[in-house]
Amino acid sequence: MTITEPTTVSTALDRARAALRATLLEDRVLIDLGSPGLYGRTGVFEHVYAAVDTAAVRSMADLQSSVLRFPPVEPLAAFERTDYIASFPDLAASISAFTGDDRAHRALLAARERGERWESFLEPADLMLAPAVCHPVYGLVTGTIPQQGLWFDIVGDSFRREPSLDPMRLQAFHMHEFVHIGTPDSAKEHRDGRIPAMRSLLEGFGLEIDVVPANDPFFGRVGKILARNQVEASLKYEFVTPVYGDAGEATAISSANLHEDHFGTSFSITTADGETAHSACLAFGLERITIALFAAHGTDPASWPADVRRALAL
Ligand code: AMP
Ligand code: ZN
Repeated sequence: MTITEPTTVSTALDRARAALRATLLEDRVLIDLGSPGLYGRTGVFEHVYAAVDTAAVRSMADLQSSVLRFPPVEPLAAFERTDYIASFPDLAASISAFTGDDRAHRALLAARERGERWESFLEPADLMLAPAVCHPVYGLVTGTIPQQGLWFDIVGDSFRREPSLDPMRLQAFHMHEFVHIGTPDSAKEHRDGRIPAMRSLLEGFGLEIDVVPANDPFFGRVGKILARNQVEASLKYEFVTPVYGDAGEATAISSANLHEDHFGTSFSITTADGETAHSACLAFGLERITIALFAAHGTDPASWPADVRRALAL
């Protein structure tokens, strides 16, 4: 009888991810916080990250978007209306807080003393971590929007519960979104019209870019149908770059997404003509672009090609 050793399957992609992660940690670009996909950031990371964000904002300056900033948590009632929990329950996360009395506190401390988990002593606080930064805007524009439509510039924290050792897949990250709410035509124009500029911006950073139909990780069996619909209806495009070369699929570092009337319907937003408003978002994944730059050019920005440094005003 032959006994086969259990093997840990480590693919070329796993190895490539581990190598990039190790480089970013060893070269002190990121700091491991002890939970997969959660990192502290050092000066060199922030330097490049700020340059990426500034270049992204400059590329959208002509939109004259209204600037809005929101906290990293959103009220449960607002989160409900986005329907996120129907599509991505596995990525969603909520805030809990302690609301008990002294007795409950003693029970919590006793459990903690026994080395047990104590979070079950906390109660849901009617707050969700924001998985996408544009969510709170739709509730603010309920009603009739102006004839020409609305443009917003929104950047903030996003949380998605997708722990991973791939440094391109974080649990807490930031996206800078340029959101338009208007008619079916203007929303489609917002999504499609900016694709060439976004592509050339990212290519100007020395990244190899492909624009492909998105295939979001909708949850479960119904999710497979939703994902197929998304591709077939060509609703969302992603700007992908081959961070790991031939070892794996290219990673999305930005996206251009047409929601059609999804938010217009949920949040009762109407155009000046009385139709349900449509919306579209252009999103720059700020950490992903930054890490793709370190992956492509190395961890010392001073040694990056001159044209890349120029594009980023570094
Ligand atoms: P999405 O709303 O999924 O299109 O996300 C917008 C952008 O955020 C994507 O194009 C990515 O660049 C970025 N992003 C999404 N998920 C993550 C993640 N887990 N870690 C880091 N960046 C992410
Ligand atoms: Zn959005």
